[in-house]
Amino acid sequence: MTFHPRNRHQGHYDFPLLIQGCPELAPFVAPAQHGKPSIDFSDPQAVRLLNKALLSHYYQIQNWEIPIGYLCPPIPGRSDYVHAVADLLSLSNHNHIPRGETVRGLDIGVGSSCIYPIIGRGEYGWSFVGTDVDMSAIRSAEKIVSMNPSLISNIELRTQPQMTHFFKNAVHPQERFDFSICNPPFHSSEQEATTGSRRKWKNLGKKLFARKEKTSVPPLNFGGQKSELWYPGGEIAFIRKMIMESREYSKKIHWFTSLLSKETHLPAIESAINKTNATDYKVIPMSQGQKKSRVVAWTFLNPDEQKKWFTKSAV
Ligand code: SAH
Repeated sequence: MTFHPRNRHQGHYDFPLLIQGCPELAPFVAPAQHGKPSIDFSDPQAVRLLNKALLSHYYQIQNWEIPIGYLCPPIPGRSDYVHAVADLLSLSNHNHIPRGETVRGLDIGVGSSCIYPIIGRGEYGWSFVGTDVDMSAIRSAEKIVSMNPSLISNIELRTQPQMTHFFKNAVHPQERFDFSICNPPFHSSEQEATTGSRRKWKNLGKKLFARKEKTSVPPLNFGGQKSELWYPGGEIAFIRKMIMESREYSKKIHWFTSLLSKETHLPAIESAINKTNATDYKVIPMSQGQKKSRVVAWTFLNPDEQKKWFTKSAV
């Protein structure tokens, strides 16, 4: 299995094209072992500029900066999740993907990069509310939105003051969303996050301790702050809490979804969903080369309510 068929970031990156839109990327591009142009994926600056170039070329985002040390999201993987959500929504819309700004998503943990709203708007014209517990992430996302005309009127950012809540404080009383989307912090402790990053660094073929600075912690090429990387109890605890709280929003949000990084965590999530009165539950597999991941999705709407959802008369 590879990327979603609608994913526009398959195969090799077209670096000459990307450099046209983002000349700053040029000094970081060189022929790789396979002979084709590439970048050093262990260099955070190169990865950041690749993202800038992709966002500019594919989504007309001309201004995109994230603070140093924050998660730099790989665009192809994030796009797959958005396409999976589009497929899910099409099930309640006569198998047509609903497009345009009336389709509303709630991005729980929007991050400093504002990545899901950018892709969701760029691919399908959807509107978003993005939330985060990290004020600096919110400020950075706000800056991205305010500096890009295609985002300004359809993306709103809200601070979540309580780490243990996802919908409360985020969803306004009369509001409805067609879906929620979330990339949870997946490590269960700071130590685990550091070990994970070290493994990743090794996989990229670097000699960990060969750097001049005598650091025991590898540089995070994709970055990451504490709240981005870990949560007590890891992704299971995070998603379980989200499932429990979603019961109170059962008629306000059609599809609740979350990324789940580990397959071994599926039974725990399945059992949490079974304890609710969810009417449907789906696991959507995703694969990007070696890396396998999945989206879990659940809804409380009955088949009739689902059918009527996009006529906005379901509840
Ligand atoms: N969506 C971005 C960032 C994911 S990292 C991306 O895919 O790259 C996870 C994010 O969730 C972090 O920004 C973290 O601060 C935020 N977060 C953690 N707990 C949260 C909560 N209860 N509500 C909203 N955001 C939360």
